Amino acid sequence: MANDILKYRNVSVHPDEILVVPGGKVVLFFAILMFGESGAEILYPNPSFPIYQSVIDFSGARAVPIPLLEKNGFAFSADEVLNLITEKTTLIIINSPANPTGGTVPKSEIDKLVAGLQEFPHVAILSDEIYSRICYDEEHTTLLAYPEIRDRLILLDGWSKTYAMTGWRLGYSVWPQQLIEPAQRLAINCHSCVNTPAQYGAIAAIEGPQDFVAEMNRAFLTRRDYLVNALNTIEDVRCTLPHGAFYAFPNIIQTGKSAQQIQNELLNDHFVATVAGTSFGTLGEGYLRLSYAASLDDLKVAVYRLNEYCSTSSLQTYN
Ligand code: PLP
Repeated sequence: MANDILKYRNVSVHPDEILVVPGGKVVLFFAILMFGESGAEILYPNPSFPIYQSVIDFSGARAVPIPLLEKNGFAFSADEVLNLITEKTTLIIINSPANPTGGTVPKSEIDKLVAGLQEFPHVAILSDEIYSRICYDEEHTTLLAYPEIRDRLILLDGWSKTYAMTGWRLGYSVWPQQLIEPAQRLAINCHSCVNTPAQYGAIAAIEGPQDFVAEMNRAFLTRRDYLVNALNTIEDVRCTLPHGAFYAFPNIIQTGKSAQQIQNELLNDHFVATVAGTSFGTLGEGYLRLSYAASLDDLKVAVYRLNEYCSTSSLQTYN
């Protein structure tokens, strides 16, 4: 794994700092358990992977949203994040490329965030980089490349997205020296280790040929371009171009319906599965998440039905 990190992130990590776990979720669960308690504040993106807020709430900490807005390409601004830090802040969660928006944070903004964090040495960072290998328009920026925060950075990545091995339950993490022992202790008390067959599968994935990762990314890129263009031709829908992951997050505010209502009607009446933006946080109202991990043919059917749905809905609105 250390070799893999060197190869794809160009950062040297000692194997003793790495913990392989049954899925990326375990990393965020452990990190939030370590830093979350009553009286603490944890910053997390909104909208985002719903597990962040759910585990923060479970830990007793206050979940403080970092707003991700469409007008900023769903990237945070470093100044905005830094302004949210108080003496109670224990952890900041960052996710780029992001679920559910596909947004990525530009390197310039990450540079600014890391520089600003020098003023707040009491704050740890969890960088969820599970989509690190699925970037289209610019190279991925890893937080691991900033030595000035290495002593308080937890890195999350895994096999679920790069290798489509979600069901194998395989994730990895890099911990600061002072946290690796507590992380290992949590792992021993929780799940002991990743099961042996999955570990061999993980080794085969990272040591085997990698050309299909690029091949899959080319397929995602074709699907992204098709889907975003097609969505933008539908009346009442507009979609920002996502730069990573495999999600489009179209704005459906003009339909006049809630995200939840559209999600349900699309599923029940048109057999198209989307996820309401509100499933990812309050700031997800007015948006839907579409995954283009589905085939191009399926996406074409989905777009056709979505178009149909939007034109009948607006007819109903005008009647
Ligand atoms: N982080 C983000 C942003 C995700 O979207 C996901 C899965 O969807 C995970 C973490 C967890 O992945 P895993 O399957 O490795 O637990």
